[in-house]
Amino acid sequence: MYIDSHCHINFPELAARMPEILGKMAENEVSHALCVSVDLPNFPSVLALAESHANIYASVGVHPDYEDTPEPSVDDLIRLSDHSKIVAIGETGLDYYRLEGDLEWQRERFRNHIRASRATGKPLIIHTRAASADTIRIMREEGAGTDAGGAAGVMHCFTESLEVAQAAMEMGFYISFSGIVTFKSAKDLQAVAREVPLEQMLIETDSPYLAPVPHRGKMNEPALVRHVAEYLATLKGEPVERIAQQTTDNFFNLFKIAR
Ligand SMILES: [Zn+2]
Ligand SMILES: [Zn+2]
Repeated sequence: MYIDSHCHINFPELAARMPEILGKMAENEVSHALCVSVDLPNFPSVLALAESHANIYASVGVHPDYEDTPEPSVDDLIRLSDHSKIVAIGETGLDYYRLEGDLEWQRERFRNHIRASRATGKPLIIHTRAASADTIRIMREEGAGTDAGGAAGVMHCFTESLEVAQAAMEMGFYISFSGIVTFKSAKDLQAVAREVPLEQMLIETDSPYLAPVPHRGKMNEPALVRHVAEYLATLKGEPVERIAQQTTDNFFNLFKIAR
């Protein structure tokens, strides 16, 4: 079985098709999915999905691309994450690609998420784009890593260099690959995926975006995480069953979910 460690199935285009989404997951042996929060106003819809489906988990956090949205305090994040189905803090991080100007607010928001993760012991879901040096620096400064007493977490939808992956793995973080790794143009990322040990790897869709080959350009959904696993199996010369088993074990270990 496979697990989609990062999706946005509360977004209207997917939420409207929920019975079909769940049916396709079952057909494709995708047993669980983690529905990731991007802002506070929509958090109730994320939580409701996790509460009404045994195999859906959820997170709480505010994405760095959301500029004009209620800012979460450390206490807000601690309070909202106090629920058995909320297994992570995020997604959080830095994104210097989408937004320009003084992004100090992004860094402050990121620090608050790391502080909430440390206070609750719930792992972080980190998004980083065109900002890897500051991301790693702030993770270190705030003690996000397990060696510094933090709960670590996952570098989601990873597209950075092997050096960035190694810096995160040294802090105890997992590296998650999305459909991007299946794209023909993603040669550098494929080289990184070859080097990341299976023991520190997760798989995800980040749906509704980024559908993997052979569905590139269409709407993504959790069932398609299977194609990410199949691609990684070929890339790493491993049986797909081994990729499925190890990334599933990693998911339950990282998010401290009893099986
Ligand atoms: Zn993201
Ligand atoms: Zn996401």
